[in-house]
Formats: sequence, structure tokens, C-alpha cells
Amino acid sequence: MRLAKMHVTPIALGDPPLLNAAGLHAPYALRTVVELVTEDGISGLAEVPGSLSVDALLNEARSVVLGADPLNWHALKARLETYFQPESSAARGDAPWDQRKVVQVFSALDVACLDIAGKAFGVPVATLLGGVVREKVPYSAYLFYKYEGAGGVLEFGTDPNAKGWDAARQRPALDADGIVDQARAMVAEFGFRSLKLKGGVFEPEIEVQSLRALRSAFGPEVPIRYDPNALWTVETAIRYGKELEDVLEYFEDPVRGQQAMAEVRRSVKLPFATNMCTTSFADLPGSVLSHSEDIILTDHHYWGGLHSSMELAAFCRSFARGISMHSNNHAGISMAAMTHLGAAMPNLSYALDTHYPWQWEEIIIGGRLPIEDGCVSLPKGPGLGVELDRPALARAHESYLRCGLAERDDQVEMRKKVPEWTFKATRW
Ligand SMILES: [Mg+2]
Repeated sequence: MRLAKMHVTPIALGDPPLLNAAGLHAPYALRTVVELVTEDGISGLAEVPGSLSVDALLNEARSVVLGADPLNWHALKARLETYFQPESSAARGDAPWDQRKVVQVFSALDVACLDIAGKAFGVPVATLLGGVVREKVPYSAYLFYKYEGAGGVLEFGTDPNAKGWDAARQRPALDADGIVDQARAMVAEFGFRSLKLKGGVFEPEIEVQSLRALRSAFGPEVPIRYDPNALWTVETAIRYGKELEDVLEYFEDPVRGQQAMAEVRRSVKLPFATNMCTTSFADLPGSVLSHSEDIILTDHHYWGGLHSSMELAAFCRSFARGISMHSNNHAGISMAAMTHLGAAMPNLSYALDTHYPWQWEEIIIGGRLPIEDGCVSLPKGPGLGVELDRPALARAHESYLRCGLAERDDQVEMRKKVPEWTFKATRW
């Protein structure tokens, strides 16, 4: 089997004005859809966080990809490793989301080849990753402080006819009451059984109030996780971490770097999770030596694909780390890939993160994958089990061309609201 075509399509999906440590989400979230097609017409899909530079690397990779055997990922990966310069861990950068680019190329190609292999063999991708451990994969409710608005074509307004979660998705949430209201609407719509608050937006005291309000509203049976995106000092993290010992399921990246994480972890009786200090295989020896975290949040877009994420899961089992999943904004191809990974990881120990409820557009046939009782069921059918809705993809590509965004930059967006706002790697 040989790869004959590779299509790279940047798209933009409407995204509400969500606040985070790096600023504000733009009205559109960028993604890039990759489609590989074999000589005999089998098509494989993948989706990665989009940017002009990632798209350029994907297009550059075409010369390596065409002619390769999609059933031999080791061989294609070796060719890619020869072609591309390796990225250092430092290339991740200080923002909440990972700045590395080459790793996304590996991820896209790995996922698309697995989709092809699944279709060729008539089995789900999860089967190719070792087998289906669970048919229903649990996700958590991802809560954000936000300004009013829906993003996308409704950038400057809201849909007055919206109801339920659609209406709540557009409302502002700038304090504890707003976050509880958002959580109630999201849980009512999707049945999530755990909550996550994206922090690093307001002073610690204010965010801790929101966490306590969530705890009061939902009770101890609903686990809560919290992520200030490494904006705190060690002293702040220890002080507020101790206050949150009876509130949190886990404490995600309160501080920056493995040594600081290890220092806080020694003083606070909570499990610690990361998608910031241990984000690549090169970081794993440091994780073992410092014990910087208890839970590693994989993200197949940044760990180099689904095979690599399974390697990470094996590491986590060997070194008694929990494993869960980080998420950026994404559409249904990524949701399917994340769900196959979650279905195939024997040691999945926590519900996965997803931004999926924040989007309303979709590029796969049949529309949005349902989230029921907080879970996404493994898509039926071979491979990823999803197919491109080509008219919808064309519309999302039109949105990309129209919105004029070349990469994610939450600081630029934030300055439209707060002109003097500046990102700080450590703020409190
Ligand atoms: Mg995080």
C-alpha cells in the first residue's frame, strides 16, 4: 500500500471569547485538516491545531509522505525524523498551549495512517492501538471565565433565540456565580461527572472562590480540577494549594518547570498534573528524577500521535503516574482520535479534557459527536469512524480565509479589550 495524495486544509471554527493565562480566545479557532489518500483510494483523516507555519511544514512533508506505506508507521516516522530538525522541549514556550510545530506534523500523519489502516483491515483505530478497553470514554466539563459573546459570525453579539447550553455558552462568566451557572448548564446538557476550571485569569483569591462555589454547588462526589497555567510563584501555589486540599481532584500546573512543580508537590497534599513541565519524551527522565507530577496529560497532537501517546501511557504505568488528556479547541476528527485513544488506554485514570462543547460547527458527516452522560461513545465503523463533510469543510475553509488569522495569539485579542494587557510567564 502506498500514499498517493496528501491534502492540507486550514479551517476556522467559531470560538467564544474565553479567557486564559495568555489572554483571550479570538472569534475563530484555527485547525488544519490533513487527508491522506492511498493509490487504491483509501482516505485517512487527521486534524491538528492550525497555523501558517504548521501548514507550511505539513506541505513540506508531502515529499516525504508520498510513496510511503501507511501501514508502516515506524518507517515513515524514521523518514520524517531524518527530514525534520528535532524540536527541543524549550520550543514549547510559556503560553498555555504548546508552541511546537514539527510534533504536530508527526501527529497528523500518524493519525491519518491509522485511519487508513483501520479502514484497510476493517477495524477501529482503538483496536490497532491494542484493543478497546472501554466503549464509552469519559470527559470532563471544561469551564472558562469568559466575556459575553459566541465568537464566529456572532463575534459582536449573541443569538437571542439560543436556549440551554447554547445560551449559556454565550453568557459572560467573570465571577464565581457565572462559573457555577456555566457549570450547571454544561452538566445539564452533556452529563459530565467531573469539572475543570481554566485559571490564571484573575487573582488567586478570586479563582479559589469560584472553586469553592463549584464545590458547594455540586458536592464532593463531583471531582474538580484546576489549572492556573503556571502563572503562580511557588509561595502562592503552596499557600493556595493547601487551601484547596479538600476541594481538588488534582492541581494542574500551578507553577512553571519540573523543579518548581516538585517543590510545590512536596508541600501540598494533592495529586499534581501537567501538560506544561513534562510534555515530551525528552522530559521524562527529569520527571522521574524530580517527581514533578503525579499525572501526565497526554495530547496526541503534541506527543507525536496516537502510537506515541500509547508509549507515554506505558511509561505512566511503569512509573506509577496517572494519565489523562489535555485539549485545545478542536473539531470532530480530533474528538474521534482522542476517543479512540481514551478507549485503548488500559490505565486511563481520569476523565479527559475537551473544548468540544465550546464549538458548534462541525466538519464531519452527521454533525457533532454526541456527549452523553459525560462520555463519547467510540465511533462505529473502521478507522476513526468519521468521514469528512466536504461542503462543511469548504465552509470552514472559507471562514479561515475570511477571518485573516495566521496563528493563535491570545495577547493580541486581549489587547482589543484591555489595551495595556501583557502576558507574564509568572503573574502572582
Ligand atoms: Mg493545562
